[in-house]
Amino acid sequence: MLRHSDWGEADRLLSLYSREQGKLRAVAKGVRKVRSRKAGHLEPFTRVNLLLARGRDLPLVTQAEARDAYLPLREDLLLVGYASYVVELIDRFTYEGEENRSLYRLLVDTLGRLAAEHEAELVVRYYEIRLLDLLGFRPHLFHCANCEREIQPEDQYFSAELGGVLCPDCGRGRGGVRPVSQSALKYLRHFQRSNYANASRARLSPGVARELEILSQHYLTYLLERNLNSPSFLRRVRSQVPQPDPADELEV
Ligand SMILES: [Zn+2]
Repeated sequence: MLRHSDWGEADRLLSLYSREQGKLRAVAKGVRKVRSRKAGHLEPFTRVNLLLARGRDLPLVTQAEARDAYLPLREDLLLVGYASYVVELIDRFTYEGEENRSLYRLLVDTLGRLAAEHEAELVVRYYEIRLLDLLGFRPHLFHCANCEREIQPEDQYFSAELGGVLCPDCGRGRGGVRPVSQSALKYLRHFQRSNYANASRARLSPGVARELEILSQHYLTYLLERNLNSPSFLRRVRSQVPQPDPADELEV
């Protein structure tokens, strides 16, 4: 379940990402009534088994049974923020009726990792890299996206327009590019070629974590041609949660 909105007097319009049909919308009748048995199973982020019947305009939910409610994602504001971001990206990047089982798997795994309280920042950065892969926007990280020379271990540039890293020669003085530090690039490459078990051994320093966050949001926003909603929510929540002292900014 990606999100829901009120529909008529007592109904809800659900936006779902399904294993079989990709993204779809459905109507759940009467779930806003106090006594509705389906209601508890139809909350955002929940993984749910649904029976759908053909409706007049949209499919109707006839049965709903939660398989995984990911409760921690409801109880912790910061996790709500991360889960909303994960769900918003899937919602924005996909079209209704396009099956993509790998994307479904990635979504389920990512929500599961957040709920299991793995390092959220890392879970989300890894998710972005895999998502870009599955959507066909895998960024070039090993060869310059302009001259194709092999990227050397030094500070570089990133071009959203060319979809990857530019060597200093191609990036310097070019409009629309962002600097990317050698350490941020190291993590991006590591995430791109690792499975989650290996990627999750990385320890991001707060400085690199911020740089990666800004860089991926720059690229994702460019691809979507519009801003995302959830990052500003996440920033607001984060500003109220004590952050690690910047003096800890050591990389290990
Ligand atoms: Zn180049």
